[in-house]
Amino acid sequence: MKLHNKIIIGLVLGAAAGITANRFAEGAAWLGWVNNNVMNPVGQVFLRMLIMTVIPLVFASLTLGVAGLGDIRRIGKVGGKSVAYFILSTTLSATIGLVLVNLFQPGAGLDPAMQQELLNTYRSQAQGIQSNMATGFGINTFVNIVPRNPVQAAANLDMLAIIFVSVMFGAALTLMPESKSKPFTQFLDALGEIVIIIIGFAMKLAPYGVFGLIFFTTSRFGWELLESLGLYMVVVLAGLLIHAVVGISAMVRVLGGLNPLVFWKKIRASLVTAFSTSSSNATLPTNLAVAEQELKIPARIAGFVLPIGSTMCMNGTALYEGVTVLFLAQVFGVHLSLGTQVIVVVLSVITAIGAAGVPGGSLPLIMVVLATVGVPAEGIAIILGVDRILDMARTTVNVAGDMSAAVYVARSEGGWKPEMAESGGTPARA
Ligand code: ASP
Repeated sequence: MKLHNKIIIGLVLGAAAGITANRFAEGAAWLGWVNNNVMNPVGQVFLRMLIMTVIPLVFASLTLGVAGLGDIRRIGKVGGKSVAYFILSTTLSATIGLVLVNLFQPGAGLDPAMQQELLNTYRSQAQGIQSNMATGFGINTFVNIVPRNPVQAAANLDMLAIIFVSVMFGAALTLMPESKSKPFTQFLDALGEIVIIIIGFAMKLAPYGVFGLIFFTTSRFGWELLESLGLYMVVVLAGLLIHAVVGISAMVRVLGGLNPLVFWKKIRASLVTAFSTSSSNATLPTNLAVAEQELKIPARIAGFVLPIGSTMCMNGTALYEGVTVLFLAQVFGVHLSLGTQVIVVVLSVITAIGAAGVPGGSLPLIMVVLATVGVPAEGIAIILGVDRILDMARTTVNVAGDMSAAVYVARSEGGWKPEMAESGGTPARA
């Protein structure tokens, strides 16, 4: 049986078991014990195994990807194209969210008693996020992309800084004679292989890890929240669906020249992994494998676009951030003019670029945007109870967006043709 089918089974069984446990034993001591001592640990070990590989994987694949592009001008061109695509797709997605949240006004009808209760229940969790919060926006947000200490950046999982370091290493390699650069590229090749094998070990755990993660989420889920936050959730999920089905499909068709049905079918394994881990970074290895093996995208292009995309291209997250900020503004009765709403969209796009590709990675940044437009930042407490479910959905869209970027760049740069994905065969050479 294919691994992603096993993962789907783990997902469905875990959700069914979790929902049943929630229905019949919500709040029971044994359920708490099982969650804390079995389900969550199993899920976390799986997630950590994947996240553990992210720094070496990004460093190896991105440095090689950059070095493989050959010369600095080409790096600039491919990098510029990728970033332009990231921004375009993310803006499109956030705009869809803006329209929907204005049409349906999900925050207008929230019962004030419920609002208070949610604030009280999740206040301490919200404060925990706030204490990690970046200290707002400014020129330093950009200055900090250049790390003072690459090792420390790696230790902090500071992905933008790691991307910067990798691009610098790759660019330097292109300026060296091959006799000098070769040992290092061979080392990186080997490092990449090692990481892929470790990921293979981790993926053996995936069906169980996913079972644990989804059981943990559903068994503690407050279904009664659906009544008050249902419309908000529907707006987020509908926005994500529209962006995927219409927006990403159209970009894949027009910019990538690829039949969207083929695209969605081929990337199933990535979608399942993203949905079950809620982490773009943890999905990166799967995404790289899918890009090369299923879509036949050249390794040099996939190895360049996907590691950067997994941090910088977050279509789903930007939509989610925009909708959440406007929803909370409605809840708190803060009137935001159209101009301010556009600022919210712009900030959502920028912060989505900086958000870490880990579960809940965008939450601290949403607090920054809330504070910037004058909505109480601790208001985020209101939506924390349903965040994980929405995280699964938005991460799936993030990952699909990364892949669509790779398709576009491969077509315009890599000597790749859509027919290669449609018919199979060997990956193109960049
Ligand atoms: N979990 C998301 C991701 O990894 C980030 C977020 O929106 O929290 O793509």
